[in-house]
Amino acid sequence: MTARDWFDRAQKEGFAIGAFNVDNMDIFKAVCLAGKNKKSSVMLEFSQGEVSYFGLKNIVDLTVNARQEYGIPILLNLDHAKSAEDCIAAVEQAGFDDVHFDGSDLPFEKNVEETKKVVENAHKKGLLVEGEIDKISTLSEVHNEEIDLELLKKSYTDPTKAAKFVKETGVDILAAVFGNVHGIFPVQPDLDIDLLSKIREAVPSCFLSLHGSSGIPADQVKTAINVGKIVKVNLNTELRVAYREAIGEELSENPEEYASYKLASDVILAVAAVVENKIDVFGSAGKI
Ligand SMILES: [Zn+2]
Repeated sequence: MTARDWFDRAQKEGFAIGAFNVDNMDIFKAVCLAGKNKKSSVMLEFSQGEVSYFGLKNIVDLTVNARQEYGIPILLNLDHAKSAEDCIAAVEQAGFDDVHFDGSDLPFEKNVEETKKVVENAHKKGLLVEGEIDKISTLSEVHNEEIDLELLKKSYTDPTKAAKFVKETGVDILAAVFGNVHGIFPVQPDLDIDLLSKIREAVPSCFLSLHGSSGIPADQVKTAINVGKIVKVNLNTELRVAYREAIGEELSENPEEYASYKLASDVILAVAAVVENKIDVFGSAGKI
């Protein structure tokens, strides 16, 4: 099944596929293990920084090997690429299922122009393209400062603008913004489900993704999947937090262990537990 087949099925059956950021090899293994344990498809995704750590070719080879080793469908996504050239490089590399071109820093018309370029290249090779018009705020980390809700609301997706963007570019997935932010805050904003349903109506033929799901209560994520027919939910910060906590514990409990792979097995299990919980929230368990 292609990524499009998976998202079609998810939309029809009311679940979403988790798109998990891969910071390092332990997280890579944790996501694949969780997918296997839950009999769920998973999407591995790599941001610009993560691509520079792994290398594009290694990412593809590792994913191809993992599909065989774990025996589950593993989709591969380039996350938040800021240049059309980086997206095209991933398309040319072969092995990716979709690429996310994030032109949200560009003026609307320029974003349309660059996104179209990516779509033309990607569609020729059968890849999906995710587009973005409204910048998803902040970094994928734990924030101590309060979020400015009034300022945040200014970045929410305008359904009319979204419809124009989807029509002009032909993107397959839209990264919608309706209260979701990257990172975890002392008080996480509520999702604006009314706005989400308007966005859904405005772009009926386009898949929707939910970025920044870390810290959002499970019931709100489930409602968003249900109301917005969201098929792709991105998760990063909660994985990074689980990893840091687990590796910190391992290091303090084993002060004389110098072989890091021996410390890794419990770390992988700790991160996998977070992923398994999310797979339950997204509803994709048992759907392979
Ligand atoms: Zn994101």
